[in-house]
Amino acid sequence: MEIGDPGVAVADPAIRQKYTEERNKRLRPEGISQFLKLADSTQFKYLDDDPWVDHAAFNAKTPVLRDGDDIKFLVLGAGYGGLLFAVHLIEAGFNAADIRIVDVAGGFGGTWYWNRYPGLMCDVESYIYMPLLEETGYMPRHKYAYGPELRAHADRIAEKWGLADKALFRTVCHGSRWDDAAKRWLVRLTENRGPAEPKKEMTINAQYVFVASGTLNAPQIPRLPGFDQFKGQHFHTARWNYDITGGTDTDWTLDKLKDKRVGIIGTGATAVQAVPELAKWAKHLYVFQRTPSSVDVRGQRPTDPDEWANKIAAAKGWQRSRSENFNSWLVNSPNGEDLVNDGWCHAPSYFGLIGGPGIIAPEKIPEHIAMLHTYDLERAEKIRARTTGVVKDPETADKLKHWYPAWCKRPTFHDDYLPAFNLLNVTLVDTDGKGLEGLTADAVVANGTSYPVDVLVLSTGFALFVEDGSGSPVQRAGVKVIGRNGLDMDDKWTREGAGTLHGVVSHSFPNLFYPGPSQIGVTANFTYTLALMASHVATILAEAERRVGGQTNRVTVEPTKAGEDAWGMEILKRASWFAAIRGCTPGYITKEGESNKVADMAEQIKAGRGAPWGEGIVKFTEVIRAWEAEGELSGLQVEANV
Ligand code: FAD
Ligand code: NDP
Repeated sequence: MEIGDPGVAVADPAIRQKYTEERNKRLRPEGISQFLKLADSTQFKYLDDDPWVDHAAFNAKTPVLRDGDDIKFLVLGAGYGGLLFAVHLIEAGFNAADIRIVDVAGGFGGTWYWNRYPGLMCDVESYIYMPLLEETGYMPRHKYAYGPELRAHADRIAEKWGLADKALFRTVCHGSRWDDAAKRWLVRLTENRGPAEPKKEMTINAQYVFVASGTLNAPQIPRLPGFDQFKGQHFHTARWNYDITGGTDTDWTLDKLKDKRVGIIGTGATAVQAVPELAKWAKHLYVFQRTPSSVDVRGQRPTDPDEWANKIAAAKGWQRSRSENFNSWLVNSPNGEDLVNDGWCHAPSYFGLIGGPGIIAPEKIPEHIAMLHTYDLERAEKIRARTTGVVKDPETADKLKHWYPAWCKRPTFHDDYLPAFNLLNVTLVDTDGKGLEGLTADAVVANGTSYPVDVLVLSTGFALFVEDGSGSPVQRAGVKVIGRNGLDMDDKWTREGAGTLHGVVSHSFPNLFYPGPSQIGVTANFTYTLALMASHVATILAEAERRVGGQTNRVTVEPTKAGEDAWGMEILKRASWFAAIRGCTPGYITKEGESNKVADMAEQIKAGRGAPWGEGIVKFTEVIRAWEAEGELSGLQVEANV
């Protein structure tokens, strides 16, 4: 099928009509305000606590950062993103001793530090998802690694590149101000030393700051009438409470649930992994569903060491080749044999979300959307048929079918989720898009019925957008950044929309880098993009410092206004690719339907500038590598400021 092929405009109209009806049921006038502002809530204060941290052990250590320190590289975030920034700096020739990492968490891992729910695993093949496998020589145990292994891998990376003792954990960054005279960022940090000691405030001077604070961090709780009356136990999946369920983060024996009625709210990617584990242990499990996930075959299996040694990891550069091969299949431009060969590679319409080959002229948008629906249909029908095949009760099977295309919500893959609904102790409570009515002292109320529960698991996702926020890379991290001439980054974003060169650095904010997420190429495999952008920034800095010779202590790197505007135009030119997202069922991708409301042309242009690279990850990679190969640092201004 080709864009522009006259055959493409025939995507089943009845199905599209059904998609629209299902979406309209779910559009809520309150948009993201349907979720609590956690800062105002006392009931969910526990979400501020780190259940995994060992304060006594940390308090006994010599701190790696002190108030007033002057350092070269400060990396904010100790997840795979922060680690990749640090590793690529080292690989580009910088000194590990000059790097410090700060995270509010009590250890490395980011997503894999905070999320420890039973059933947690990566949904992209671990051979390409886990960064730096070739360099660490590590073979994942399964095709899709489980949570503890993913977290341990973060520690392995930190150890191998000498970063384990360069991190200040339990430390939140609130703000950063550019000091143009000193050519330094003044970064405000607060170290939480646990309940027995006062917090420590400090300001660090850093030449370069990297914001690798992730996008799926802040647990989100729906406003539910009566929640404050609920007397049962509850927790969010990103702060799993094993004291309540039994088991540990590495042993998912949830034996304390044997005599408990458990409810789980939400059926997104997290719930799809947690439900099968809860179903094994709960006396009864109620799964409260507002919108079903699409659940395709997983095909989990242990890694075969022979296949690993002789095929998968045999050739030098295998991980990059395999990742790029995966990307090529995702954007329907296969480059060679399908090496990963899983559900992602056979989800041809997913590129509606991540971009693909071709630049769509505005007048071609309807045709483009029709093409995406045509790509989607066969897979969607197959998944719905799979549901009918697996789930024995036809009514339950019907309720578990998704009615939206693959680009609207993260597709899920699991071998045990759908079969869980055949168990006698599991009940699906589908709310037909309406969500819950509320809670009473001992029950969840849905569809006018009370379901008594002892334990309530909130699998209700993450706040991607803070209410009224600018969506800038630092706003997501809760960091106030003031650049040259007192410019607030959030004000810049609010006024102009996203403004960066290659998604990594912005005019008026020299020496401050991040891996998008606006204005970069994206793929289903987050770590691919994190690695690409980390390597890009390291390449830029190595070249910038090489140019100024030995006098590197005051070097600044910043996009020119013209360079930034030109990149913004390139993004905007390709943004029509994402037009189909406006028709999506609500979720975090559409800011719960709010982004569909943008009507004013100026606002649409602003939103378009904040899009990812519309031409797809393969082309984006080529563009970035070609720019690097030129060695000109075009669009950037490097000053020595000696
Ligand atoms: P994170 O891992 O989120 O790390 C950011 C860190 O920054 C956090 O530790 C946070 O505490 C810290 N931080 C943020 N703000 C501040 C601040 N102001 N001060 C101090 N510290 C701060 N992607 C995939 O491609 N495949 C998957 O299978 C996959 N599975 C996922 C499963 C779950 C449950 C979730 C939530 C996400 C998943 N993702 C997956 C997306 C995942 O977030 C990325 O793959 C990747 O791990 C992100 O890494 P990161 O370092 O950019 O961000
Ligand atoms: P999601 O945002 O995907 O899911 C939240 C769920 O809560 C949805 O089912 C939502 O319903 C439901 N919900 C919210 N409010 C209510 C309400 N008032 N009543 C009933 N239900 C409600 O969060 P997840 O944590 O599941 O996943 C977030 C992202 O994290 C994923 O998209 C993925 O990128 C990543 N992830 C990846 C995983 C992997 O496979 N490795 C595992 C886990 C997460 P509705 O859909 O109607 O809004």
